[in-house]
Amino acid sequence: MGESIYEIDPHKCTECIGHFDEPQCVALCPVACIPIHPEFVESREQLMRKYHRLTAHKQDV
Ligand code: SF4
Repeated sequence: MGESIYEIDPHKCTECIGHFDEPQCVALCPVACIPIHPEFVESREQLMRKYHRLTAHKQDV
Protein backbone atom coordinates (compact mmCIF):
# COMPACT_ATOMS: atom_id res chain seq x y z
CA MET A 1 0.00 0.00 0.00
CA GLY A 2 1.35 3.43 -0.94
CA GLU A 3 0.34 6.71 0.70
CA SER A 4 -3.11 6.73 -0.89
CA ILE A 5 -3.25 3.95 -3.49
CA TYR A 6 -1.81 0.49 -3.99
CA GLU A 7 1.51 0.61 -5.78
CA ILE A 8 3.28 -2.09 -7.80
CA ASP A 9 6.99 -2.58 -7.12
CA PRO A 10 8.45 -2.89 -10.64
CA HIS A 11 11.40 -4.81 -9.20
CA LYS A 12 9.00 -7.55 -8.09
CA CYS A 13 6.51 -7.48 -10.98
CA THR A 14 7.14 -10.03 -13.75
CA GLU A 15 3.99 -9.03 -15.66
CA CYS A 16 2.87 -12.46 -14.44
CA ILE A 17 5.45 -14.24 -16.62
CA GLY A 18 6.03 -17.65 -15.07
CA HIS A 19 2.44 -17.96 -13.86
CA PHE A 20 0.01 -16.61 -16.47
CA ASP A 21 -0.06 -15.62 -20.16
CA GLU A 22 -1.11 -12.04 -19.41
CA PRO A 23 -0.77 -9.60 -16.48
CA GLN A 24 -3.57 -10.62 -14.17
CA CYS A 25 -3.97 -7.26 -12.44
CA VAL A 26 -4.36 -5.53 -15.82
CA ALA A 27 -6.83 -8.17 -16.99
CA LEU A 28 -8.95 -7.74 -13.86
CA CYS A 29 -8.77 -3.97 -13.38
CA PRO A 30 -12.18 -2.53 -14.36
CA VAL A 31 -10.88 0.98 -15.05
CA ALA A 32 -7.63 0.26 -16.94
CA CYS A 33 -5.47 2.15 -14.44
CA ILE A 34 -2.35 -0.06 -14.50
CA PRO A 35 0.02 1.24 -17.19
CA ILE A 36 3.46 -0.12 -18.04
CA HIS A 37 6.12 1.83 -16.11
CA PRO A 38 8.06 3.67 -18.85
CA GLU A 39 11.39 3.02 -17.08
CA PHE A 40 10.65 -0.73 -16.82
CA VAL A 41 9.83 -1.84 -20.36
CA GLU A 42 11.20 -5.39 -20.21
CA SER A 43 11.36 -8.24 -22.71
CA ARG A 44 9.81 -11.62 -22.01
CA GLU A 45 13.32 -13.00 -21.47
CA GLN A 46 14.16 -10.28 -18.92
CA LEU A 47 10.88 -10.88 -17.11
CA MET A 48 11.52 -14.64 -17.06
CA ARG A 49 14.99 -14.08 -15.58
CA LYS A 50 13.40 -11.86 -12.90
CA TYR A 51 10.81 -14.56 -12.20
CA HIS A 52 13.56 -17.17 -11.71
CA ARG A 53 15.55 -14.81 -9.47
CA LEU A 54 12.51 -13.97 -7.33
CA THR A 55 11.45 -17.59 -6.97
CA ALA A 56 14.90 -19.19 -6.63
CA HIS A 57 14.50 -19.79 -2.90
CA LYS A 58 11.19 -21.58 -3.50
CA GLN A 59 12.73 -23.87 -6.13
CA ASP A 60 15.44 -24.98 -3.67
CA VAL A 61 12.84 -26.45 -1.29
S1 SF4 B 1 -0.52 -9.35 -10.95
FE1 SF4 B 1 1.19 -9.80 -12.37
S2 SF4 B 1 1.38 -7.95 -13.62
FE2 SF4 B 1 0.18 -7.42 -11.80
S3 SF4 B 1 1.66 -6.65 -10.30
FE3 SF4 B 1 1.43 -8.81 -9.92
S4 SF4 B 1 3.06 -9.81 -11.13
FE4 SF4 B 1 2.81 -7.73 -11.90
